[in-house]
Amino acid sequence: MNQKMLWQYARLIVGVGINLQKGQTLVINCPVDRADFGRLLTTAAYDLGAKDVIMLWRDDYCTREHWLRADDSLFDGVYSWDADRLNTLAKEGAGYISIAAADPENLKGVDQERQRRYSIASNRDLKDFYNLEMTNGFPWCVASVPITAWAEKVFPELKGEEAIEKLWETIFKMVRITEDGDAVEAWKEHCGNLERRAKILTEMNLESVHYKNSLGTDLVVELPENCRWLAGGEESKAGHKFVANMPTEEIFSAPKRDGVNGVLYSARPLVLNGNIVDKIRFEFENGKIVKATAEKGEEVLNKALDTDENSRFLGEIALVPYDSPISNSGITFFNTLFDENASCHFAFGEAYPSSIEGGDDMTEEELFEHGINATAGVHVDFMVGTADLSITGKTRDGKEVVIFENGNFVF
Ligand code: ZN
Ligand code: ZN
Repeated sequence: MNQKMLWQYARLIVGVGINLQKGQTLVINCPVDRADFGRLLTTAAYDLGAKDVIMLWRDDYCTREHWLRADDSLFDGVYSWDADRLNTLAKEGAGYISIAAADPENLKGVDQERQRRYSIASNRDLKDFYNLEMTNGFPWCVASVPITAWAEKVFPELKGEEAIEKLWETIFKMVRITEDGDAVEAWKEHCGNLERRAKILTEMNLESVHYKNSLGTDLVVELPENCRWLAGGEESKAGHKFVANMPTEEIFSAPKRDGVNGVLYSARPLVLNGNIVDKIRFEFENGKIVKATAEKGEEVLNKALDTDENSRFLGEIALVPYDSPISNSGITFFNTLFDENASCHFAFGEAYPSSIEGGDDMTEEELFEHGINATAGVHVDFMVGTADLSITGKTRDGKEVVIFENGNFVF
């Protein structure tokens, strides 16, 4: 791969994704297959004056062995020293880079009940870490690099290095890195465009939106009062801008917890807990998913929905035009970071408090009172956008407004 572009990418993630400040610690969660890229990120961080760079290496093979063979007691808790480390770093405001790259079916055959138990346990033991992440208490960024098992899934006609090379090229296109371009400038402009649309949506003061397409989706989603639509950059508690997902194409908010009714079909396969789930049909009643079926991975899906009492409610509503770079590539990535940015999506489970005015400073109880699904053991994004999706909105003063026509924004 072109070293100049790799270097640009590492600097983009640390400098714009995290916006690392002098004296700040950086945590990097990275697959060992791409140690080379982990090293570039480390150098980029020290160049910007990092206090320390802490590497959390992971490996698909060892992860799978752990899930299949580790002692059963381990799935009911996180080691206290491990929880302490992450919670402490989060409270200190350390940056957190997560490199999302794994074999999409790495955990096929793993006991689903173990996964459910561990979701509950990690949510409890890493509460400070997750709460601070959801409320932008520290800057975090999810980005991707190719590893063989994943690249071969995305490009099944290619093997090994060829698949890796092709996935690098694709990722660079999606994150706006070109050989001689200025990725930092390109990102500024892109985030500006997303924020413009988010502002229009917030100012519409929508009470509800109605989704329809030929798959059979017919869903009304109410929105909480004072709901905000967000996009592009976020701001950390310390007051520094950061970009949580690279790439990002979405404009998101949170649905009203008990205000979702109708039927919703998925539009792309979803990788959930190391398994593929595809062709989902959801039925909603007063916000709750009362029935979920899937042609593939139905059991995995329902286990995740049954994580706890809030997991069957929606925590995110996100709009992505069908005509967008990732969608136009025609590629199914089997990686949520890319697939969710190719398609309108929702997430079941926990909501981002910033989805309502002042939400970041509210307690869980206050957020629930404001109609937000403030806590859940999961946050799972799933894709629903199609070429023929229409979305019409109803404003709080009773006006009907068209938002999406034929899969795309009308404004
Ligand atoms: Zn999203
Ligand atoms: Zn999400």
